Amino acid sequence: MNAPLPVEVLKQHLIDPEICIRCNTCEETCPVDAITHDSNNYVVDPEICNGCMACVPPCPTGSIDNWRLVVRAEAYSVQDQLGWEELPGEKVLPADTAAEPVLLAPADASVPGVAAAPVASGASVPPWSAAHPYVNLYTHKTPVTATVVGNYRVTGADTESDIHHIVLDFGEQPFPVLEGQSIGILPPGTDAQGRPHYARQYSLASPRDGERAGYNNLSLTVKRVTQDHGGAAAHGVCSNYLCDLARNDTVQVIGPFGHTFLMPNHPRANLIMICTGTGSAPMRAMTERSRRLLGTGDIGKLMLFFGARTERELPYFGPLMKLPRDFIDINLALSREAGQPKRYVQDLIRERAADVRDLLADRNTCIYVCGLKGMEVGVLDALQDVVVQSGKDWSILHEALRREGRLHFETY
Ligand code: NAP
Repeated sequence: MNAPLPVEVLKQHLIDPEICIRCNTCEETCPVDAITHDSNNYVVDPEICNGCMACVPPCPTGSIDNWRLVVRAEAYSVQDQLGWEELPGEKVLPADTAAEPVLLAPADASVPGVAAAPVASGASVPPWSAAHPYVNLYTHKTPVTATVVGNYRVTGADTESDIHHIVLDFGEQPFPVLEGQSIGILPPGTDAQGRPHYARQYSLASPRDGERAGYNNLSLTVKRVTQDHGGAAAHGVCSNYLCDLARNDTVQVIGPFGHTFLMPNHPRANLIMICTGTGSAPMRAMTERSRRLLGTGDIGKLMLFFGARTERELPYFGPLMKLPRDFIDINLALSREAGQPKRYVQDLIRERAADVRDLLADRNTCIYVCGLKGMEVGVLDALQDVVVQSGKDWSILHEALRREGRLHFETY
């Protein structure tokens, strides 16, 4: 008599609804369109997901990295997941299960209808010497209250770009952070469905030891959103709330988030920082961290490529230009300055090819890119051109930069 076939067990990919901040990054990243959402949750379709992991590194909260062993025939459906308020616990599997769980579909391009996992542009690991970050200490259900101790505009008053530097103090409550991490702000009020708003994510603009060294505070760089991506009038719920806050107002905060876009911690590590607009926030944090270490002999080279429409729309222009030139090599790409040709950060990377190449050749160099989504391809092309010009193979270097946690993107 034949033995009964073992029950097939799946390692089902799930998203934790309690931690997810609904930023849409996973849905945009998934190469096979396995991720979908409604007004309640982001979920993974068990019929489509091939376990390729492309969505895992870009998720700012780590809510994407959840897995449950289930009997294939009993996999949680999209409908089940859309209704969840929290993840289900682990199931007890029947004794006659197959020994090895399988991913939902083979991550194999040779299988018809299943796309190969794309090669991500950036690293999915932090630099080897990065400090260990704390993440998700506070969630939607358990936010922490911070007090506004500063809120001022960092762009010219007569310009369209209303960008604010906002300082939040946590008092006695622990909120440990590292440069490159982000936090979530819960705006008050409800969405169109009458439910509390989900958190909006902002990168820290201050270093680990506080906006003011030794204080339990941090800063954010927030642009008031008055238009959608197509240029139509729109009112950004959280950006307007934050830009209008007064001193001593309180805000609900969750996080911190982020475990890969972190700065190296070993002596004489070099930083190439490439940003546009408010994408300058983590670059300010890393630059200030380095500035506070000046005189220790531990600081490597800092090279900054910073894009903005005009000088007056470039956040932190004044303080940035006061930094010593032998501390940081500043390259400003202005795209709408009257009487000047339009320039993007990638144009300047090409202009500074020789210096960029020298830094890239040093294994102590880490590269950070933050800002508009559209710059990602342009920056990668520019780095490739710089490397290829010197007769080197970009694909080999790109792979090493990703593997060694030396190339990081945070673009929206
Ligand atoms: P912006 O003022 O719209 O643009 C800044 C500069 O980038 C302008 O000079 C713009 O040129 C240029 N630019 C446009 N497309 C480009 C491309 N394909 N390649 C290179 N440069 C390009 O910027 P913003 O409104 O501040 O937006 C910054 C972005 O950073 C947002 O998407 C935001 O979500 C993101 N971000 C913010 C934070 C934060 O903590 N606040 C953190 C991470 C990321 P043009 O004259 O052609 O427009």
